[in-house]
Amino acid sequence: MRMSQLFVPTLREVPAEAETISHQYLLRAGMIRRIAAGIYTYLPLAQRVLEKIEEIVREEMNKQGGQELKMPTLHPAELWQESSRWDAYGRELFRLRDRHERDYCLGPTHEEVITDLVRREVNSYRQLPLLLYQIQTKFRDEIRPRFGLMRGREFTMKDLYSFDRDQDGLDVSYQKMYDAYSAIFRRCALKFRVVEADTGAIGGTDSHEFIVVADTGEDEIIYCEACDYAANVERAVAALAGEEDIAEPLKDLKLASTPGMTSIDDVVSFLGTEPQRLLKTLVYLAIDGEAYKPVVVVLRGDREVNEIKLQNHLGCMHLALADAQTVEEITQAPVGFAGPVGLKDVRIIIDAEVPTVVNGICGANRADYHWINVNPQRDFPPAEIMDLRRVAAGDKCHFCGNPLKSDRGIEVGHIFKLGTKYSVAMDATFLDEAGRKKPMVMGCYGIGIPRTMAAAIEQNHDENGIIWPLSIAPYQVVIIPVNSKNAEHMELAEDLYTRMNRVGIEVVLDDRDERAGVKFNDADLIGFPLRLTLGPRSLKEGKVEIKDRATGKVTLVEIGEAVAVIKDRIEEMGKGWA
Ligand code: ATP
Ligand code: MG
Repeated sequence: MRMSQLFVPTLREVPAEAETISHQYLLRAGMIRRIAAGIYTYLPLAQRVLEKIEEIVREEMNKQGGQELKMPTLHPAELWQESSRWDAYGRELFRLRDRHERDYCLGPTHEEVITDLVRREVNSYRQLPLLLYQIQTKFRDEIRPRFGLMRGREFTMKDLYSFDRDQDGLDVSYQKMYDAYSAIFRRCALKFRVVEADTGAIGGTDSHEFIVVADTGEDEIIYCEACDYAANVERAVAALAGEEDIAEPLKDLKLASTPGMTSIDDVVSFLGTEPQRLLKTLVYLAIDGEAYKPVVVVLRGDREVNEIKLQNHLGCMHLALADAQTVEEITQAPVGFAGPVGLKDVRIIIDAEVPTVVNGICGANRADYHWINVNPQRDFPPAEIMDLRRVAAGDKCHFCGNPLKSDRGIEVGHIFKLGTKYSVAMDATFLDEAGRKKPMVMGCYGIGIPRTMAAAIEQNHDENGIIWPLSIAPYQVVIIPVNSKNAEHMELAEDLYTRMNRVGIEVVLDDRDERAGVKFNDADLIGFPLRLTLGPRSLKEGKVEIKDRATGKVTLVEIGEAVAVIKDRIEEMGKGWA
């Protein structure tokens, strides 16, 4: 391709709306343009990168026995009503109505449609397992579309669905996808971690996320370097701290005056204690549509509530901290003095660590007073005990006791054992060897294609622009004749361009009548892995310059050898990933 013809409107300035590096460079390198919040056009360079990622995905899916198909984006409401997700999916679902007043949605995911297909066409164990996938547009009316392609409202996803006879079969399909995903992200040259993921209110079954490590990521992951435990913070567990703590005799419960001390910090310094002695008491509302129920939650003063764990446990649609009025109604005291001691007629949930607290402190449900020497096992009313806490770096690993670490990252892939959730709801059954009717056991597996492209930029860039990994670069090489006015140099550049094309190298010839500086800047911004420069000085010696975008390393080679050297470089760079 010739740069003079390539539709790549690069920008000099950093666009004001772009907060993250990938968003900035995608705009500046002329790869994407926004038409509305979370909705983008992919320009030719982006399209090439997306196609390369898709091709890698396709190869790895096919290798594991996946079969590609394509389902519609427009889904009739009836299917979503059958699975109960028409209501449960909430406002993220784009809904529309046809001329006959029938309801439809734009597919945010395809469990319903694929289950409908398979239940009609598959009825015997002989037809299973089945691994079906598509690479297709999804629509999600995200509350906060942001960071360019990271969180869009329209985006391409590869989604595969597995159908098996039983749990063992699902385990095999799941492992295949786990392996395929690892291969895909390795081939895209991404540094990633596989972490245990939250499975929502259905719980129980396995789920893993593939997280590309990046500071700008929206996800937080917790991991242990000693034993390989890794989980999304939404799901992460840690050892209880209590055991090694205080071994002291239980003291008598006493009321202490704490005038105006409503925060943890206030109480800690006023009573001269430590936050882990405090029994932080919060009132939440479990909300389902119009209905809501208060829930009192207790955890150590130095811990935070993991609201995902709490919501999963409660099985409610939304969760919110209660307003001051509700807190007062439940505790008979102003906000800041709540405690579980003596509370009645309300659901109380305490974090698993709370029972290990000895001679602790909590609000007395009375303005300006706290209880001291609180011993949960002795003084609390009956309560549910569960792991409620949000794990943080430095907490001890549940499995090996070593300190946990945390990182930020971008979720690029998600694999999930669905079990029979959809097959039971939608009656997708088959007959086993003994002629018994059974629900199919399902899994679902998704990769965001544009998000993967953006994640690659977050990990591979410098102050001058993108540094594409070779496997997903829009083009492998750019040829830059420094002096475009010199006919001889241009002819030589044309010749190299033709020869590279002939041997299948993906090359752009920067044939524009521009200053060399402009061409170099664009080449760095766009991020071609290799740059071949025809400079007047080296040409005098019959040489051209080859520069590696990632390392900055420059080598001078004989003109006659340039194509072969580049070909070797490309092969070498591709090794280790494929
Ligand atoms: P998130 O927690 O980031 O919203 P999700 O759990 O909703 O993701 P899945 O439903 O598991 O995502 O979708 C599979 C994959 O699709 C994700 O791993 C991600 O790569 C991609 N994806 C999901 N939502 C978006 C979005 N709004 N924009 C771009 N890619 C997305
Ligand atoms: Mg989401």
